[in-house]
Amino acid sequence: MSESTRVNLLGLTRQDLEAFFTEMGEKAFRASQVMKWIYQFGVDDFDEMTNLSKALRERLKEVAEIRLPEVVKDMPSRDGTRKWLLKVDEINHIEMVYIPDGERSTLCVSSQVGCTLACSFCSTARQGFNRNLSTAEIVGQVALATRIIGLPENKGERVITNVVLMGMGEPLLNLDNVVSAMELMKDDLAFGISKRRVTLSTAGVVPGLEALRQRSDVSLAVSLHAPNDELRDQLVPLNKKYPIKELLASCKRYVEGKPHNRVTFEYVMLAGVNDSPAHARQLVKILRDVPSKINLIPFNPFPGSSYECSSLEVINAFRDLIMEAGIITVTRKTRGEDIAAACGQLAGKVQDRTRRSERFVIKEEKIA
Ligand code: SAH
Repeated sequence: MSESTRVNLLGLTRQDLEAFFTEMGEKAFRASQVMKWIYQFGVDDFDEMTNLSKALRERLKEVAEIRLPEVVKDMPSRDGTRKWLLKVDEINHIEMVYIPDGERSTLCVSSQVGCTLACSFCSTARQGFNRNLSTAEIVGQVALATRIIGLPENKGERVITNVVLMGMGEPLLNLDNVVSAMELMKDDLAFGISKRRVTLSTAGVVPGLEALRQRSDVSLAVSLHAPNDELRDQLVPLNKKYPIKELLASCKRYVEGKPHNRVTFEYVMLAGVNDSPAHARQLVKILRDVPSKINLIPFNPFPGSSYECSSLEVINAFRDLIMEAGIITVTRKTRGEDIAAACGQLAGKVQDRTRRSERFVIKEEKIA
């Protein structure tokens, strides 16, 4: 498995794969042939790639492989959402979620094993962190789901139409691998998903956001959750490093010159914490010059969490106040609650290297 010295072709962008073949003394167009086999036909056995010569297939078998994450558990929800626990190496497991909704099928993928950020309302945070996922492991999630749900050439069947990097981890702290993976999601020879339908969500790593702007054009979502630094420092401790003003300036730059683009601001609704009319008014004020949309996320509880979700009336009143100020606001539907697949509930199995998970265990025992 992880000991394998063969190159996993899933981790190579079109450009990387062309370089790989050129280095082998082959023509660069072999890359497009192989990409179609992998991503459009779901083939990972080189022997089945019949438009490659026998000799090339033999060489590929020696030096390369196509290795997807392994499904350990398949958890279907009553509402059609489906969550998979995936093994990425001998010790670590991640989670991925499929969310069908009418014409749209969204796949929520993870970018790290665990997370180094310590957002107080998120279950992934409590598990600590082990490592970044490789490009192959990120793209591998889309490849795997596509094979389970429907391949692009089965027109008319369900295909993954949208990908959100909203699973476990902070994508901007694994930028290189995430950017390559997103390139493959968009590449016509791979998944061909339009840039608008690939969304990266960040807790607000400002230098990462600046780098992303130079290197990619995907849709941006930002986990804001509070309209002032004092409160955001508590909910998203990363805010102490990159306060709201800096974060919003960076968001504004991200969509500048792209007239149809808006930043989606995610705002988790925590009863009595960030959900008052005053918070709504403050939110409208700080977002005044950033082209924005707001996504209100009802808080999803998890074992040991100390928050409660705002009531529906409070959420609706909060939404109406923002809408009246002219900002499009949508309350995110909670999906896959019965299988702990909703926002902030993804846990997987992380061999923590940061000791954060220990702290939480002690705390929870004290409560009990
Ligand atoms: N680290 C990135 C990617 C994770 S996305 C980020 O923070 O954006 C996961 C989304 O779910 C984020 O908006 C996160 O703030 C939100 N979330 C986390 N815990 C939650 C919970 N318990 N209930 C509802 N939403 C939650």
